[in-house]
Amino acid sequence: MERIQKVIAASGVASRRKAEEMIKQGRVKVNGVVLKEMGYIVKRGDAIQVDGKSITKENKVYYVMNKPKKTMCTNSDEFDRPTVFSLVDSNERLFSVGRLDYDTSGVLILTNDGNFANTLAHPRYHLPKTYNLTLNGILTPPQLMELKSGIVLDDGHKTLPAKYKVTEKDHKKNQMSLDLTIVEGRNRQIKRMIEHFGYHVTRLHRKQLGNLKVDDLRQGEYRILKPYEVKKLK
Ligand code: URA
Repeated sequence: MERIQKVIAASGVASRRKAEEMIKQGRVKVNGVVLKEMGYIVKRGDAIQVDGKSITKENKVYYVMNKPKKTMCTNSDEFDRPTVFSLVDSNERLFSVGRLDYDTSGVLILTNDGNFANTLAHPRYHLPKTYNLTLNGILTPPQLMELKSGIVLDDGHKTLPAKYKVTEKDHKKNQMSLDLTIVEGRNRQIKRMIEHFGYHVTRLHRKQLGNLKVDDLRQGEYRILKPYEVKKLK
């Protein structure tokens, strides 16, 4: 039995204070009725909606999407660019587990389980992520070794050991592609790792997140994760 503010905060929708404001603004419904009472104690089986979207604990959903390029992982965008959430036919209030950049494609998990999303995206939770990337240059063997053992990023952070496999080397085009597996998820990490050598990532696709791949999905397609797949990620 918990107060409504706490339940809303635990769902990841808003902080407790923001949740109180939302209640005052009449944006929260319990069992279809707009909530008027700030101290409401949530009962088992209560259906809670914020802005018309369900956040009820019993109804957790997990999707894996092959994120297309040119989509944002935020709920709204100041430039009105399309978001990954607009591609999903769901009444749930979804979050992405971590973020992929606007121009990055590949494996992305969407869920209404705020705790799950926060745990997996936490910097100390070392879920392996494999990216296939192309850069506008060719890294030398010592540079590849450096990429593997860890490099100091522009903010002074030294990246944890990574694994790589060169998948294409084109001297004519002066470009190289590789699979790179990292266990961290810092902002623009792959791009910054490559920028460390003075090059740019020209294409970035996340092939794998933990054990999860999207080989069966075209870009923009998604499917519901099976319970055992969710368990394996935790
Ligand atoms: N690293 C990046 O630079 N961008 C992404 O989208 C993901 C990882």
